Amino acid sequence: MTDTSPVSHNFIRQIVLDERAAGKHGGRVGTRFPPEPNGYLHLGHAKSICLNFGIAREFGGSCNLRFDDTNPAKEDVEYVESIKADVRWLGFDWSELRHASDYFEVFYLCAEKLIRDGKAFVCDLSADEVREYRGTLTEPGRNSPFRDRSADENLDLFQRMRAGEFADGAKTLRAKIDMASGNINLRDPALYRIRKVPHQNTGDAWCIYPMYDYAHCISDAVEGITHSLCTLEFEDHRPLYDWCLAQIDLANHPELVQPLVDAGFKTSVSTPRQIEFARGNLDYTVMSKRKLMELVRDGLVAGWDDPRMPTLSGVRRRGFPPAAIRTFWERAGVTKQNSTIEFSVLEACVREVLDANAPRRFAVLDPLKLVITNLPADHAETLSFPNHPKNEAFGTRSVAFSRELWIEREDFMEVPVKGFHRLVPGGEVRLRGVGIVKCTDVEKDASGNIIAVHCTLDPDTRHGMPGAERKVKGTIHWVSARHAIAAEVRLYDRLFNVVNPDDDSDGKTYRDHLNPDSKRIVRGWLEASLADAVPEAAVQFERLGFFVADRHDHVPSKPVFNRAVTLRDSWAKAAGK
Ligand code: ATP
Ligand code: MG
Repeated sequence: MTDTSPVSHNFIRQIVLDERAAGKHGGRVGTRFPPEPNGYLHLGHAKSICLNFGIAREFGGSCNLRFDDTNPAKEDVEYVESIKADVRWLGFDWSELRHASDYFEVFYLCAEKLIRDGKAFVCDLSADEVREYRGTLTEPGRNSPFRDRSADENLDLFQRMRAGEFADGAKTLRAKIDMASGNINLRDPALYRIRKVPHQNTGDAWCIYPMYDYAHCISDAVEGITHSLCTLEFEDHRPLYDWCLAQIDLANHPELVQPLVDAGFKTSVSTPRQIEFARGNLDYTVMSKRKLMELVRDGLVAGWDDPRMPTLSGVRRRGFPPAAIRTFWERAGVTKQNSTIEFSVLEACVREVLDANAPRRFAVLDPLKLVITNLPADHAETLSFPNHPKNEAFGTRSVAFSRELWIEREDFMEVPVKGFHRLVPGGEVRLRGVGIVKCTDVEKDASGNIIAVHCTLDPDTRHGMPGAERKVKGTIHWVSARHAIAAEVRLYDRLFNVVNPDDDSDGKTYRDHLNPDSKRIVRGWLEASLADAVPEAAVQFERLGFFVADRHDHVPSKPVFNRAVTLRDSWAKAAGK
């Protein structure tokens, strides 16, 4: 793991510190990150990843990656592989890779134990009837008419559920807790349901599947998890989490985990503590897997890894470094208060990391020809530039200089507005690393479009000459037209143009708030040294922003660069900040 950013304090860390000091779990710390493999991971998941792996690392503990694959229909190996790749890319490695489906036999044995102990029963109510019996927040529920079946009858029925004798939905296994509980999660919640659907990991072996709350607590316990960190919406489920573990009492029933031991899994039973924290949310972003899935399915983006997506594979392709994402969640903190963090804070972290790590290069994205008329046509020179203004360790590179250059069109104004300090007719500007040029003439085509500006270079202002330090107001960058390489440059911006695209109170949906300017493709000219860039190499195009060689499409013969982030926050300016 490469993260060296300082650990900031949060309430979960304090709980772990206190429990360790008290000798709980023998001082051991075990966490897990438990994604459901039904989509790609997003920036919100990264919060959970950083928290779980971060706590484990800090305390010399373990953190498992567990695929929460108890739900058979929606899963796909594509998602499993992407999740593994994304966790590694973020800079973490798991202690054990597990699947909740590894524990199906254990879940089953635990359910039989609950039945034998009179703590669970097979119920024949339909889903609609269950809802009717459940009651409401203000009304207690009613007992199921099947609640008093004998343990023997329940065991027989449950075994026949497993054997496939009953149709989907015909029966459920339910915990026997309290239909009058103020917490609806405790009103005899379902533990198992029948679903005759093949499963990606276990194939046709099972037609009954455990419910999330039941499976999750047992999975945590058999993996020796000490702190089960989850988001706030599970707070009301915690009593059920604790109830299941207390009733099953794995620590005193080693026979229940024997199937895992037999299958060769490292097993150390714990009594985990569930701790809830607030989800991470970002403005200008939608972060639910369902909506991200819709964006992909309906072709509103180019795929899960479209550089505008808040998926980890998207921001990776966009050029956001993993260290920036770790720093971002570190700074955002971990609390129990729901809040939304500004996307600009993430962009600031991206700039900070790239500023320190990205070598500087020249690129011109909206080219205008500049001809230095007092140089001979075949003038050729090689200038040396530092790769990083603040870090000599980056070394230097050679950049070709010649009579004809590309400059940015916006660095020249024929009729300058007030305060414009770059090139104007008759005016002077410094060409970065070369010297001062003066615009003598503007060349236009028949329709009056400017096709080139003609300048003279003041030889006295070149490096080492007496006038080298002479001051002019503007400095602009350039590339040699003869030497530059053409590149496709993808200028990305935020996918949504409103602060909260999820807000549908005005009848609009997130789809109505897509930013039409979120992707613009231009042909740019790059200094020739960029021919060697490898995919995912990050650079700063001086004065333009931070860019990355596209992970998939960039090849030396056809360079493709993505803009990760501009040098300054243009959204804050637009918002009047
Ligand atoms: P989504 O609502 O986007 O579908 P999910 O919670 O269903 O997300 P899971 O695959 O179940 O997705 O999540 C895996 C882990 O990541 C869970 O522990 C979940 O609590 C956590 N997680 C998901 N979204 C966020 C978020 N925005 N902030 C922090 N943790 C999150
Ligand atoms: Mg989920």
